[in-house]
Amino acid sequence: MADTMKALVYHGPEKIALEDVPMPKIIEPDDAIIRVTTSTICGTDIHIWHGGMPEVQDPRIIGHEFVGEVVEVGPAVRNSKVGDKVAVSCVTQCGECFYCVRGIYSHCETGSWIFGYMIDGCQAEYVRVPHANLGLFKIPEGLTEEDVLFVGDILSTGYMGSENANIEPGDTVAVMGSGPVGMCAMATARLWGPSQIIAVDMVQSRLDAAIKNGVADIGLNPANVNVPEAIKELTGGRGADRTIEAVGAKGTYELALESVRAGGNVSLLGVFEQPQTLAMNKLWIKNITIRMGLVNANRIPELINLIRTGKINMNYLITHRAPLNGIIKGYDVFGGKKENCLKWVVTPYQK
Ligand SMILES: [Zn+2]
Ligand SMILES: [Zn+2]
Repeated sequence: MADTMKALVYHGPEKIALEDVPMPKIIEPDDAIIRVTTSTICGTDIHIWHGGMPEVQDPRIIGHEFVGEVVEVGPAVRNSKVGDKVAVSCVTQCGECFYCVRGIYSHCETGSWIFGYMIDGCQAEYVRVPHANLGLFKIPEGLTEEDVLFVGDILSTGYMGSENANIEPGDTVAVMGSGPVGMCAMATARLWGPSQIIAVDMVQSRLDAAIKNGVADIGLNPANVNVPEAIKELTGGRGADRTIEAVGAKGTYELALESVRAGGNVSLLGVFEQPQTLAMNKLWIKNITIRMGLVNANRIPELINLIRTGKINMNYLITHRAPLNGIIKGYDVFGGKKENCLKWVVTPYQK
């Protein structure tokens, strides 16, 4: 193999560049090196690019949603071998620390954490995967790389949002934000059998996509309607049983709190850059439950099974595909919500 590879490197707010960097190497015995065959740009990468996550240091290879081929394994890797095609969890996990034994992988005390955050990520030709015994999932026969591309990040995140919302059969679920993560929350919310899923977004094409692809039943655009009032009208005057916030912004956060019925659940998924106010004087009396958190990516095997059996299909999110060579344009188009882009998929670098 060559000594260098192409990778997208973050050099501080608004500074990203496609550069030649050293090839990743096995460091720990349970590391694997993956050749990245398909990856994506995620909303979190856009936050990092704009400086919204100052913990990310210059220089850092970013990106954390990918599938690939195992090309090298350390001596302690038992569950994967060279040549395996794998989906990869965006969160690395040792499996043995205080948090890992409790399933809270995103707080693993070995500090590896998320790709493209504290360790180098996947918008590159190759990536080092720490704790490879736990974070790699073989792609089953009959499924393509794109079929399972989202299991390691946005589908896991959407699933966590639905799980945290405590949805029961017959419920009305309102999802604030109909971007890729919001739509993954809607698709997984269906698994609990709600009677209706309401998508809320300012971008009409995103509402249309959610309905057309069956993840939502009703679309509400805050530009045209008073969302909490409209949701009350759809629920006998009460409000949604469960609301999910999937943006990380003040407007959607407030809609999620205002639109939930008494005794309902609010699940917060978005990556917030700013503190938000909780109106305790009005909210305490509503008996609501609020949950939030960073994805643990602990449902990847179940998600792959659901995709294999046709219960979940998010392939429609892929609106754009281009080799790693064109990734800077991808940040502009996906980050700027241009060209009705839902997901920008990155294919291997073309020499
Ligand atoms: Zn992400
Ligand atoms: Zn751990």
